[in-house]
Amino acid sequence: MRIPLETLQDAEAFMLKLPEADRIRRCSKLYSAEPHLSGDLAHAERIRDLWISYGISSKLVRYDVLQNTPTCSSLSLYSEDGNVTFVAGLEEPVIPEDPTSSPSNGFRPFHGFSANGKVCAELVYANFGTIEDFRLLAAKGISVKDKIVICKYSKIFRGLKVRAAEKYGAAGVIIYSDPQEDGEWTQKNGHLPYPDGPARHPYSVQRGSVDYFSIAVGDPTTPGYPSLPGKGTERKDPGGAIPKIPSLPISYADALPFLKALNGLGWSPDEIGGSDGDWKGELDGVDYFTGPSKVEVTLESYGHYEYTPIYNVIGTIEGTSDELIVMGNHHDSWSCGAVDPVSGSAAMNELVRGLGRLVEMGWKNERTMPVSFILASWDDEEYGLLGSTEWVEENAKMLSKHCVAYLNVDGATNGGSIFGGTGSPLLGSILRSVATLIPSPTSSNKTAYDDWLASYQLSNPDAKVPHLELMGTGSDYTAFFDHLGIPSMDFRFSGKSSSVFHYHSNYDSFYWMEKFGDPDFKKHTMISQAWGVLAVRLANSKILPFEAAEYASTLEKYASRLSAQDKLKLDTKPLEESISRFKSAAKKLDDLNASVSARLNDDDGPVFELSKDIAKINQKLRSIEPGFIIDEGLPGRKWFKHIVFAPGLWLGYGGVVFPGILEALDSGDEKEAHRWVSKIAAAVDAVTNSL
Ligand code: GLU
Ligand code: CA
Ligand code: ZN
Ligand code: ZN
Repeated sequence: MRIPLETLQDAEAFMLKLPEADRIRRCSKLYSAEPHLSGDLAHAERIRDLWISYGISSKLVRYDVLQNTPTCSSLSLYSEDGNVTFVAGLEEPVIPEDPTSSPSNGFRPFHGFSANGKVCAELVYANFGTIEDFRLLAAKGISVKDKIVICKYSKIFRGLKVRAAEKYGAAGVIIYSDPQEDGEWTQKNGHLPYPDGPARHPYSVQRGSVDYFSIAVGDPTTPGYPSLPGKGTERKDPGGAIPKIPSLPISYADALPFLKALNGLGWSPDEIGGSDGDWKGELDGVDYFTGPSKVEVTLESYGHYEYTPIYNVIGTIEGTSDELIVMGNHHDSWSCGAVDPVSGSAAMNELVRGLGRLVEMGWKNERTMPVSFILASWDDEEYGLLGSTEWVEENAKMLSKHCVAYLNVDGATNGGSIFGGTGSPLLGSILRSVATLIPSPTSSNKTAYDDWLASYQLSNPDAKVPHLELMGTGSDYTAFFDHLGIPSMDFRFSGKSSSVFHYHSNYDSFYWMEKFGDPDFKKHTMISQAWGVLAVRLANSKILPFEAAEYASTLEKYASRLSAQDKLKLDTKPLEESISRFKSAAKKLDDLNASVSARLNDDDGPVFELSKDIAKINQKLRSIEPGFIIDEGLPGRKWFKHIVFAPGLWLGYGGVVFPGILEALDSGDEKEAHRWVSKIAAAVDAVTNSL
C-alpha cells in the first residue's frame, strides 16, 4: 500500500488502518508462551530484531541492577498446643485447559525485594494494610508490634503495605487477594472461577515488588544515577528503599485457614468501623476480626540477591529538530503475562511497524522540522521500573533538553472495555480528540470517547469532558514525569467490567485473554491505533497539541478542595491567587495557539510569517511541566521532584496534588504546610512568568 502522505490526516489515517488484529493475536500468543522475567536477553533480542525488520534502527541498552529471586518460602499455622495445623501450598496449580499455567513456568509466588527472614508470631488482620488501617488498629488498642500482619491486596501499592506494617513494628506481612477486590467478574455476580469463567481462580496469587516506590524507583543501589555495568558504578545501601521485614503473597484459598483463626478475636469489622466499612471481605466462613490470634504463624521468605544484567530495547527515528517524543512499554513479566505486559507489547509492535512504514513511504513528520522518536521496550519494570528509570537517569540531560512528551502503555487491556488514561493535564485534550476516532469496543454507534466520558461522569457528575486521572506511579512514565517533569501519559482499556485478570499470576495467560479478556484482539488493536494517531499528531501539528488552561484548572480544582476542608486553619490564598494568575496566562496562550492554528489551516500561505509565533508558543508550552520541577525534591524522597504532582506517599499507585502541603498537614505540622503553600505559589508564579 502506498498512500500520499501530504497531510496530517493522511498519516493519521494510515496509522488507524495499519494495525492488524491477527498479527497482534499471534504476537500475544508468542510472547506469552513463557514467562519473560527481567533480564531475558533472548526476548529483548527478539524484540530488537523485529523492530529492525520494521525499518527502525534498534539496539539493546544494558544496566546491572540489584534484585532477588526466590529460593525458599513457607507459611504454616499452628494449634494452641504448637502443632502444625495447616501448611500453605504457595503454588498455583496447573489448569489442564490453560497450556501455560504450569507452576514450573516461572517463579513461585514471592515478593520482589522482600527482606529475607523467618518469623514466628501471632497474626493480626489489617484490612487493606493502608496507613489509615494501621492507625485505626493502634487507636483501637491492637498492636501489630512483633506480630505477623495479614491484609488484602488492593487500594494501594503492595510495598507501602509492608512499609506501613514495618513502621508499626510488625515482624512480617502476608498479602492475599480477597474476592471483595474483584470488581464485576466475581462469583457473587454469577461468574464462574477461571477456567470455567473469568472470575478469580481460588489459588491465583499476585506476585509483585514490595519496593517502597513512592520513596524511590529504579535500582535501589543507584538512586538518581544509572546502574551502568562495570565496577565504576557506585553502589549505595538500598536500606530505606526496600523492606526490612519479610513478606509473602498468597491466594485466598491459602488465606482461609489463617483468617478463620482470627474469628471472634479482637474487634469485628462493625466494631472497628473504618472509613467506609470495608473491613469485611467476601470469604465464606471468615468474620474478618482483627485478632491477634491465639495461635502462631510461621512465615519464611528467602531469596538470592544479586546484580543482574537487564536489557532495554531502544529504537530510534532520527529527526532534524531539537524535539523528541519517547514512547514505551515494558517487556518483562512475572509469569506469562498476556495482559501485563504482553497486551501492550503486542500493540506496541504494530505501532513500531506503522512508524517504520511511514518513514519508508517518505513521511516527514514536521512541526517546524522533523522531530525524533525514541521507541522503548523497557526491561525490569516489575521490580520497580528499573529499565526505564536507569535509562532516564543516564539520559536525563538530553531528555530535559529535547523530550516534549512520553507516551506509555503498560497493559493495553485487562479485559475491561473503557478507554482512559492518567497523565499530565497538558495531554488531556489530545487524548480526548484521539479517543473520538476510536470506535467503542462494546457499542456500535459509539466511540471510545463516549465510553470514557460516561465512565468519568459516574464519579464526576458535573464534568463536561473526561480528564486524565492524576498520575501516581506504577509504570514506566514515572522517571519521565516525576523526576524530570516531562509531560507524560499512560492509557489503556480497563474499567469496572473486569478488575480481575489474574494480575501477576500464572493465570494471566493467552488462554484467559482469548477466552475472556479480548477474544478478537479488538481492544489491543484499538490501543495500537490510538497510539499511532497520538504519535503522528504530536509530531505533525505545527503547534504542540497541549492545553495549558487544563493544567491551571486542574490545580485550581485541587487548591479549592484544600481550602474547602474547613477544619484546617491553612491559608491557601497565596496559592489560589497564583493559580488564578496562571490560569489567565494559560488561557491567553491557548487562545493565541487557537488563532495561529486557525491561520495555519485557513490559508495555504507562507508558514514562515507565522513561524516566529509558532516557535514562541511551542517554547512556552514546553516550559510548563519542567517549571514544576524542584531540585531538592520532595521531603524524604528527593528523587521525586515534581512540586505539584506526586504519587501519594502512602498510596503509590494513586496520585496526589500538592504533596508537600498534604504531607505536612498529615503530620500535623501547620507551619511546614504554610511553607509549602508559599513554595508552590512561587513555583506557579515562575511558570506563569515564563508564559
Ligand atoms: N507495575 C509493577 C507493580 O505494580 C511495578 C511497580 C513497581 O514496583 O515500581 O507491581
Ligand atoms: Ca539508578
Ligand atoms: Zn506492567
Ligand atoms: Zn506488572
